[in-house]
Amino acid sequence: MTYSPVIGLEVHVELKTLSKMFCGCPADHFGKKPNTQTCPVCLGLPGALPVPNKKAIDWTLLIGLALDCQVNHHSKFDRKHYFYPDLPKGYQISQYDEPLCVNGHLTLSTSEESKATSEVTHSGSSDGENRVRINRVHLEEDTGKLIHAEVDGEKVSLVDFNRSGVPLVEIVTEADIHGSAAAKEFVKKIHQLIRDLGVSDCDMEKGSMRLEANISLSKDGTLPPYKVEVKNLNSFRFLGRAIDYEIARQKELLTRGQTPPQETRGWSEAKNQTFAQRSKEVAQRSKEEAQDYRYFPEPDIPPLVFSKEQIDAIRAKLPELPQMKAARFAKAYGLKPSVVTILTKTQASAAFFEAAVKEGQKVSLPPTVIANAMVNQRQAFKNPEDLVRHLQTQTQEKVSDKITLRQFIDQVITAHTQAVSDFKAQKPQAIGFLIGQIQRLSHGKADGKLVHQLLLERLESSR
Ligand SMILES: [Zn+2]
Repeated sequence: MTYSPVIGLEVHVELKTLSKMFCGCPADHFGKKPNTQTCPVCLGLPGALPVPNKKAIDWTLLIGLALDCQVNHHSKFDRKHYFYPDLPKGYQISQYDEPLCVNGHLTLSTSEESKATSEVTHSGSSDGENRVRINRVHLEEDTGKLIHAEVDGEKVSLVDFNRSGVPLVEIVTEADIHGSAAAKEFVKKIHQLIRDLGVSDCDMEKGSMRLEANISLSKDGTLPPYKVEVKNLNSFRFLGRAIDYEIARQKELLTRGQTPPQETRGWSEAKNQTFAQRSKEVAQRSKEEAQDYRYFPEPDIPPLVFSKEQIDAIRAKLPELPQMKAARFAKAYGLKPSVVTILTKTQASAAFFEAAVKEGQKVSLPPTVIANAMVNQRQAFKNPEDLVRHLQTQTQEKVSDKITLRQFIDQVITAHTQAVSDFKAQKPQAIGFLIGQIQRLSHGKADGKLVHQLLLERLESSR
């Protein structure tokens, strides 16, 4: 009997808009004095009317488009009812059946893990690609925060409403993930993507990115009859460990002929294991989650209607996305996938590389040499110029003996007769190409100035 993991993820991201989702209070709540950033709207006082934040809507569409989603031309907000002290209105304004964005995807590198299980449960992929389908991207308001403290020797629960009403985007995947490595890769890619879009800082320690995983095991490829939800995972590492722990735990139960109960579990960092959440509040909350939230359309906010032109205008704001950038780097600079992955890890490192390539062109340093220097970086470089200068110094130290350089020149001239003819036909750009080839042979260690001089001598003499 084979068991294969079936995992879906929910990623919550707080947008870094200036104001909250439905009122003018500041959205930046972290570390602020409790209940200093509130108003009748986010305190849920009777009669207060919500006004949607346009920027938050635009940014949610931007995230959806970056994940190749369709934008719903018609969307709306709904009330999701449940009772909990952090929710002043008794309902959360969220989106139910008409979310802003649907049906997207994100492609992962095919991991061994996913290959192993692909025959059984791989549903969303094609051509060996590991494609995770995005079910929806919707917008809602964040809740307040409970603080458990001791006041005058008594244990109390306090509520801070500074976070109440902060715009919160929820990204929900289909259950297309089949192991902890793929799950971690997925959330890392989402993290990078959203940071590149500049719409959230995705700081997990501050709670501006929060992860939940739905984990079950499929027996012989059949649909699992249960689902275990693990909440409050606040790092990539904990997500991975929680998944591995759940896979082992559920496998053991299934092997004994039992079906793991459908439940919500938490993660204990100290014990390095998941645990059933049994506190009174959570029990009450999960009971209500299992039942109906009594969703109905938010009567105080008109439906949202987007024209094709409006959606195109937002699409036009998409920056070059990590996957597009990686493909361009591989092609334009002739780099290996492993090198591209490192260089495009952050927008900053990609930009650093491209600036260094530009700087390096002036002294005939090929991009591959710059890439290698960045990947094997043993020292910090202040800026791209600093890196290029360092490589040049190395160059001067290494290969500036004329015999070696003349050997490189001979090899290149023999191999590239067309460029040599071009040079003789008064096409000066041919010399740049030949120098590039010599640098490639010398792994960028040839003295650029000397190569130029020797190459000219050599070409002139054979004219
Ligand atoms: Zn407010």
